Amino acid sequence: MTDCVFCRIIEKKIPARIIYEDPDCIAFEDISPQAPVHVLIIPRKHMANTLEMGVEDDALIGRLFRAANKIARDKGIAERGFRMVMNTNPEAGQTVYHLHLHLLGGRRMHWPPG
Ligand code: 5GP
Ligand code: ZN
Repeated sequence: MTDCVFCRIIEKKIPARIIYEDPDCIAFEDISPQAPVHVLIIPRKHMANTLEMGVEDDALIGRLFRAANKIARDKGIAERGFRMVMNTNPEAGQTVYHLHLHLLGGRRMHWPPG
C-alpha cells in the first residue's frame, strides 16, 4: 500500500534501521523508542491490525513472535525479560495501521500497562 508508512519501509522507499529480514517479516528500530530496546516486527503482507488476521495467517503470526524471540536473544534481553505488544485500534493507542509487534526491553516494565 503506497500510503502505508510500514509498507514504504518494507519497499525501502523510506529509511529505517532494519535489524532483521526474512521472506515473511522485517524488523526495525522504533523511531521513538520507549525502552532501551524497542523494535517493531512486521509482516511483509499488509494487514491493518490483528482484526484482519485470517486462518491463512496463522503461521505468519507465529513467525513474527519467533523473530522477536531471536531479536531478544541477540540483543541480550531474553533472560532478563521483555514485553511483546500489539495495539489494535484507537483505545489501545494504535497509530500505524500495518500490523506490528512491539518488542520492548532493557528496563523494568510496569503492570498494568498504561
Ligand atoms: P502503534 O502506536 O501503532 O502501536 O505503534 C506505531 C509505532 O511506530 C510507534 O511506536 C512509532 O514510534 C513507530 N513509528 C511510526 N512511524 C515510524 C517510522 O516512520 N519509522 C519507524 N522506525 N517507526 C515509526
Ligand atoms: Zn502496510
